[in-house]
Amino acid sequence: MPPKRIALFPGSFDPFTKGHEDIVLRGRLLFDEVVIGIGQNSQKQRYVSIEQMTDCINKTFAAYDNVRVETFKGLTAVFAETIGANYLLRGLRNTTDFEYENSIAQINRNVNKNLDTVFLITAPELAYISSSVVRDIHKYGKSVSEYLPYEL
Ligand code: ADP
Repeated sequence: MPPKRIALFPGSFDPFTKGHEDIVLRGRLLFDEVVIGIGQNSQKQRYVSIEQMTDCINKTFAAYDNVRVETFKGLTAVFAETIGANYLLRGLRNTTDFEYENSIAQINRNVNKNLDTVFLITAPELAYISSSVVRDIHKYGKSVSEYLPYEL
């Protein structure tokens, strides 16, 4: 049996949106397993706690046995190695994402030479969704349910 092709989808997911969901649902058809990795950054205060986010993501993908969620601290490339992932999965919305992702992908490959980043171009109807905009809308008491695959 060839080794399992595991992809790590890393991010802050604060919160996890329908845009992120779309990347996971498409990614799970390309890889044997997709691990959603919530990166913990002690310097940054979260809007939605890691515990609540983990719960919501678990519920979202309960029907799929090749999708799971983990939290991690430290370098993404090191965490990928720990879970046996040879691929990072990322979404690209626009050229701003590209500029950033391009350098991060090169650095990650320098840290872990077995790690390739695979980009999926965002579904156009979801490309405008960003975690920061969802946070802003929610903070001011408006409904964000159309942007999220679960209730916040
Ligand atoms: P980070 O803090 O690492 O940028 P995010 O949680 O903001 O983490 O995003 C994680 C990944 O999801 C990134 O690759 C980002 O480009 C992608 N992404 C963010 N929003 C969307 C969206 N609406 N559609 C598809 N991909 C998205």
